Amino acid sequence: MTTSRQAIDAEPAVAGESQTALQTARRQLARAAELVDIDPSVVARLTHPRKVVEVTIPIERDDGSVAVYRGYRAQHDSVRGPHKGGLRYHPEVTSDECVGLAMWMTWKCAVMDLPFGGAKGGVVVDPKDLSEAERERLTRRFAQELRETVGPMRDIPAPDMGTDAQTMAWFMDAYSMQEGETTPGVVTGKPPVIGGSHGREEAPGRSVALVTRAALDYYERDLATTTVAVQGYGSVGANAARLLDEWGATVVAVSDVNGAAYDPDGLDVASIPTHDEEPEAVTRAADEVLPNEDLLELDVDVLIPAAVGNVLTAENAGDVRADLVVEGANGPTTVAADELFEARDVPVIPDILANAGGVTVSYFEWLQDINRRQWSHDRVHQELNAEMERAWDAVRDAYESRDVTWRDAAYAVALDRLSAAHDARGLWP
Ligand code: NAD
Repeated sequence: MTTSRQAIDAEPAVAGESQTALQTARRQLARAAELVDIDPSVVARLTHPRKVVEVTIPIERDDGSVAVYRGYRAQHDSVRGPHKGGLRYHPEVTSDECVGLAMWMTWKCAVMDLPFGGAKGGVVVDPKDLSEAERERLTRRFAQELRETVGPMRDIPAPDMGTDAQTMAWFMDAYSMQEGETTPGVVTGKPPVIGGSHGREEAPGRSVALVTRAALDYYERDLATTTVAVQGYGSVGANAARLLDEWGATVVAVSDVNGAAYDPDGLDVASIPTHDEEPEAVTRAADEVLPNEDLLELDVDVLIPAAVGNVLTAENAGDVRADLVVEGANGPTTVAADELFEARDVPVIPDILANAGGVTVSYFEWLQDINRRQWSHDRVHQELNAEMERAWDAVRDAYESRDVTWRDAAYAVALDRLSAAHDARGLWP
């Protein structure tokens, strides 16, 4: 079947430096669609979310006044399984941003071959302006407003910016109270005492390290003689740096928002507290402290941007001296920088593969919740290793057979799987 006329026109893709999450997601879809044999009507469907729910969340503040917040849940595609994606509390949350990030989750789940589709949601609020009791009331009311939208077989939220394991515990409790049964599988990223998975916290950093090791192996580089710089020493960056160090690599620079600790002979990353463990400790860890941007241009073998998005741009991509870039953060490379890296033959291993350990262990958590049986930490690690290896092999095969960038290869793998599922299920009249 082909679409002669689309009922909803896609927003034109932009190739600028300030692309929004939605523009990036649509641009990547359009690019990947050129690589795979896909029915154009499926591309048309994937260009738009399946559903966006907007809710109003009134809560009583501690002083007795009532404040009213806006919340969203965007569900992109569920052809391969229930929707999956984070809930963020941030003043700049918008409906479009949720849609773009939901699309991103669809690609990530598909490249990992997880039986989920993408979703993302959030509340337009600065959580720092609320007391803990107010955050709890906000979360419980949000859960109630989303009760028809979420569910363990429907849509499974997780922590994101401004939310954490405690937020998920409140959400799960509110949902369970209303349903009349304890339903741990409605969210992931919960504390292990109520069905959370061991190993969830370190999973994205672990997958970044695993993929870095696989890429070095692919390029016949020895970890023992590899130098690494990691921007962002938070959950993702610190876990990746510590594992690579443990496996024999030399981590010469790590940074937080204040700057970068640099030692050409290697830092003892095991003893450097992360931003969460001890804020601002990173810049005390070495005699030499560099501005954060300088870390990106160090003469190292591997650069891992693991802090925030859009840090590798047209301005600095030409000055990056690393032989390999592995994306720890979501969207650290702009479209223009990507083109420069491609022209310079610098491989960039994309976020949807590299940091997908997080959603993969979320999937493990969901399996554990459904089966009411917790896995050991060791089992989580083994299963994550196996899933990452499988995903790496699929992307590597696409990289070799299609002769494209690593990013395009990952998107081609994802879109192939989505396309096959849509073809098999067809379009319900
Ligand atoms: P985090 O808050 O634990 O750590 C972020 C770190 O980056 C901190 O050390 C902070 O000081 C530093 N930082 C912030 N702004 C910076 C800047 N402008 N320059 C340099 N450093 C800066 O966050 P995280 O959970 O590690 O997430 C990092 C990135 O990885 C984000 O893009 C996030 O979306 C992505 N990610 C996180 C997960 C997860 O489950 N934690 C999963 C997938 C992707």
